[in-house]
Amino acid sequence: MIASLDELTFPTPKSITGGCLCGGIRYKVDFPVDHDFKKASGSCQCTQCRRQTGSLFFLAHTIKPASKSSSSSNEIPSTLKEYIINPASPIGARGICTNCGSFMYWRPKSNNPPDKAEEEEEEDYLELAVGTIDPEYLFGEGQEEHEGYGLALVNGGGGHSWCKNSIRGVTDGISWLGADGRGTRKEEH
Ligand SMILES: [Zn+2]
Ligand SMILES: [Zn+2]
Repeated sequence: MIASLDELTFPTPKSITGGCLCGGIRYKVDFPVDHDFKKASGSCQCTQCRRQTGSLFFLAHTIKPASKSSSSSNEIPSTLKEYIINPASPIGARGICTNCGSFMYWRPKSNNPPDKAEEEEEEDYLELAVGTIDPEYLFGEGQEEHEGYGLALVNGGGGHSWCKNSIRGVTDGISWLGADGRGTRKEEH
């Protein structure tokens, strides 16, 4: 039995760094002091996320784009491309590295003009693919003073989307994915 969400305590990082497999994309995230590390952590088992990640679920940590910056400058890294499934009617954009194929993030995107977007309270956030976070932050690789911040970054507290796509005997039994109550299981999004 894993600790319930309320019982969970963990050290939290002030910032993290990460990147794609080839190193063409590097990023640094500075967390605001009020960042909610539980609410920001979640998963998705929708078919689109499965196809893109090549895995049965996508593990994400939600950040505000303002807290994300390229490590060198604010220019978009040259190997970053946003893939949109249906450009005529987009619901989201997926950031990938054009050189190595790493999946970096999902973010909401629509064709709404800015005023309409505001009216509909379109949220401006980015779901960072946690596997791209550097190992020193995920599990403390090479560190003597800490064991990483994996639990802060990937605790499931924000809930789990598209659980109606759960695969019986495989993804429905994973504690982390809400099987014993850590994080709300949502049928769809
Ligand atoms: Zn790359
Ligand atoms: Zn998904």
